[in-house]
Amino acid sequence: MALLPILRYPDPRLHKKAAPISIVDASIRQLAADMAETMYAAPGIGLAATQVDRHIRLIIIDVTENKSKLQAFINPEIINKSGGCDGEEGCLSVPGIYETVNRAETITIKALDLDGNPFELTAEGLLAVCIQHEIDHLNGKVFVNYLSRLKQQRIKDKLLKQARETL
Ligand code: ZN
Repeated sequence: MALLPILRYPDPRLHKKAAPISIVDASIRQLAADMAETMYAAPGIGLAATQVDRHIRLIIIDVTENKSKLQAFINPEIINKSGGCDGEEGCLSVPGIYETVNRAETITIKALDLDGNPFELTAEGLLAVCIQHEIDHLNGKVFVNYLSRLKQQRIKDKLLKQARETL
């Protein structure tokens, strides 16, 4: 396993649209394992392949406190959503920034697992928010894109300044 570098906003590669995965093979399982190690080390509760500069439709999530339920979703698609909720979100690609985003409260998704088998899942609360956040990454969208232009610019400036200072 290996730790992978995580792209940081405003890196333009975060806005690439990820391609569907046609064959779920050992290389996909290896990437998922490396992404899990990277996510736990960060630490975070979700990671999209886009964030490690692999532009394919794979996300991994573990919203438990004791790292006990790692879930991988390949080619995830939201097939139903309902309700709405405002929650504070953060992102491993936007370190130190937390902002309120409105999301569906309950979602049903279909996806493939790491063996290539299709499944459906209905999620609510934090898991539902996390899945929506990670699917956005696959579509080239970062959560700060929901904020006003002014706020996005401020976040961009702040992160660019941070990046310069850590060089
Ligand atoms: Zn994120």
